Amino acid sequence: MDSLLNTTYMHPRDQITLVMQRIYKRVLTTTSGGNLSIIDDNGDIWITPTGVDKGLLKPSDIVCMRADGTVTGDHKPSSEFPFHLAIYKARPDIKAIVHAHPPALVAFSIVRKVPNTNVLPQLKSLCGTIGYAPYAIPGSDELGENIAEQFRQGVSAVIMENHGTVIGGKNISHAYQQFESMEMSARSILYGNMMGKPAYLTNKKLDEYASQSAVVFPEMGDTTYPSEEREKRHDILKIVRRACDQGLMLGAFGTISARWNEDDFIITPDGCSNWDLRPEDLVQIKNGEREKGKQPCRSAYLHQAIYEKHPDINAIILTQSPYLTSFAITGAEFNVRTIPETWIYLQDVQMVEFGEQFAGVDTIPSIISSETPVVIVKNECVIVAGSKLLQAFDYLEVAEFSAKSLVLSTTLGKMIPISDEQVEDLGKVMSKWKNYEWRM
Ligand SMILES: [Zn+2]
Repeated sequence: MDSLLNTTYMHPRDQITLVMQRIYKRVLTTTSGGNLSIIDDNGDIWITPTGVDKGLLKPSDIVCMRADGTVTGDHKPSSEFPFHLAIYKARPDIKAIVHAHPPALVAFSIVRKVPNTNVLPQLKSLCGTIGYAPYAIPGSDELGENIAEQFRQGVSAVIMENHGTVIGGKNISHAYQQFESMEMSARSILYGNMMGKPAYLTNKKLDEYASQSAVVFPEMGDTTYPSEEREKRHDILKIVRRACDQGLMLGAFGTISARWNEDDFIITPDGCSNWDLRPEDLVQIKNGEREKGKQPCRSAYLHQAIYEKHPDINAIILTQSPYLTSFAITGAEFNVRTIPETWIYLQDVQMVEFGEQFAGVDTIPSIISSETPVVIVKNECVIVAGSKLLQAFDYLEVAEFSAKSLVLSTTLGKMIPISDEQVEDLGKVMSKWKNYEWRM
């Protein structure tokens, strides 16, 4: 596993290298495009070099532009340094910048549009409203001024006309999470346009969502850590990382939990990047109480309600993978009769209205089951259940692949589903297929 990002103790050059490796591996930049920087407490700016392979970047390649005007490093700094500097001057609260040309955000940039972040509540609270900077020559002071002007107005993410995107954060983890979330949500909007018409939440709905975040679990006294509980922590970390690597989960959103005893479970925490979780970050929930000093993800109440109702469900993944999210934002029908595997594993993917995921609403615990393990919540997420974590993860992959095929097929013609008769035949062989051993 790659090393974890720590924005408090890691040297800026190590942070930049690690995040650039992540961006390149997630295919969010080309070898030559994109640059990252961090401003440290001395006011020195650490930035990626120009003309160095982004896929093979090393900490020693990072250039330091000192506040006194001197430059340290083996290479020339990124030619886009002027706009990094302009942003830091305009906004002292911004300590790290990510700039790249990822395909979906560039698609918006070349038709001169900005993604509407009201598409997902998590995206809106992470990125706010996205700004738009008019075109100017790369590396020019004019481009720096066009971008800085947007940041001065309070935005932290900007679409650069006919160029790409630039995002500022309180640290590089925050900037990266915004960058990744914007690109993946932009993809969902593009795919949604192929399936139907994306719907956007009103500010009133977003406020309702925000007021839901206050569900609190009482804090338990002393916590014990039985072996099966520790085992689940490591299993969850493996699946979270795999989901991030595969583009099925974002650093900023998404929750994974696993039952370890009766109705007790381990769940990912609130406010940590999924890319950088450690075993000690996960939260134990026991007898309805949370582990001392920790906050579970906001959807923990939903996980609890599902475990209480379904003794055969032992793992839950809640996420925003881009193709399934395109169904969530358009409300387009997710027809599972694409290929035998999809029908056998998913049976029936139900969609519920935004708001039915709120605490105290019984809709999702009532319709999710081991037979129908996938539920889509409009403008919010997909929820996948399994008897084991690996099974839930596989169901998520099957659902995302199927969603992708459905989206892509719209450019070819009308989908012809498997017939009733073929489905009836599949029913006879289903148990053989479902006998897969879900061992990690
Ligand atoms: Zn650029």
